[in-house]
Amino acid sequence: MKVTVLVGGVGGARFLQGVKAAAGPGDEIRAVVNVGDDIWMHGLRVCPDLDTCMYTLGEGIDPERGWGRAKETWSVREELEAYGADPTWFGLGDRDVATHLVRTRMLRAGYPLSQVTAALCARWQPGVDLVPASDDRIETHVVVDDPTDGARRAIHFQEWWVRHRAVPRAYSFVSIGRDQATACPDALAAVADADVVLVAPSNPVVSVHTIVDVPGMRPALSAAPGKIVGVSPIVDGHAVRGMAEACLAAVDVPVSAEGVGRFHGARSTGGLLDGWLVAPGDGAEVPGVEVREVPLMMTDSETTAAMVRAAYEVAGV
Ligand code: GDP
Ligand code: CA
Repeated sequence: MKVTVLVGGVGGARFLQGVKAAAGPGDEIRAVVNVGDDIWMHGLRVCPDLDTCMYTLGEGIDPERGWGRAKETWSVREELEAYGADPTWFGLGDRDVATHLVRTRMLRAGYPLSQVTAALCARWQPGVDLVPASDDRIETHVVVDDPTDGARRAIHFQEWWVRHRAVPRAYSFVSIGRDQATACPDALAAVADADVVLVAPSNPVVSVHTIVDVPGMRPALSAAPGKIVGVSPIVDGHAVRGMAEACLAAVDVPVSAEGVGRFHGARSTGGLLDGWLVAPGDGAEVPGVEVREVPLMMTDSETTAAMVRAAYEVAGV
């Protein structure tokens, strides 16, 4: 069976661990990964969601933080700070820097991000094909009243999320570069020949929607031969981890499994989903979508695998 999963960072990576655990022999898993969080930092290209997936599945992740490398040290960051080199709010760990150096060098040599990612994965062996949603530069920006001077402007998503902890109210999101971008051909191919497409319980706005919004993705998803089944990142009216609620507020979506299901919408009416998994008691009504209640806490790979099997049942695979 061929399974394709739309993923962001931490929620996506944990879900992929469950997809791997649920896989049978010969199953092929491909992940279409959000690139909207990507950023140039101190001259290095950083791809947070790709790296979170790669390190998590390759067992190089820091398990406490959920991002970055295990046993990380921070000498480079300290030295940069000693120079007063801005920005100082984004922590590049020493081990992590090696990944960004290799990536940046390959990008500068002309390799597309998808090939660069495959080269990095040769080391980590994630067991899943990690495919960036686009080889082009697409960066999510957030319109806020900038806390540094009060002026309303669009700042990079990472600046809002990491530096300001998503505290300033987000008025809207803008995908810089999106209009000139195209979907990665491997991502389109992964959707076109999948027996089933899963949507991880990733951030609905800045992970899932950013992927779906890449030019070429929507028509590919709408024509996908297999069913598309999503998993709610909202359980009992709260984001399970992190600050996704602040993103939903900006696009006027209620923080509920039903709200997010409706935001994604039914494929039969131009939206994304055929099926939607919500937590027990979260009973949601999403017109045109088959909703099923199953436990949605990704406490370990086996629990997550059960969630994935439920999605397969809904998809009829
Ligand atoms: P990010 O890019 O690192 O922010 O990660 P993602 O976009 O992939 O996922 C973030 C989302 O994962 C958050 O909105 C969380 O609500 C969701 N999430 C994290 N852990 C769990 C879990 O155990 N169960 C469910 N259903 N959602 C989760
Ligand atoms: Ca992310």
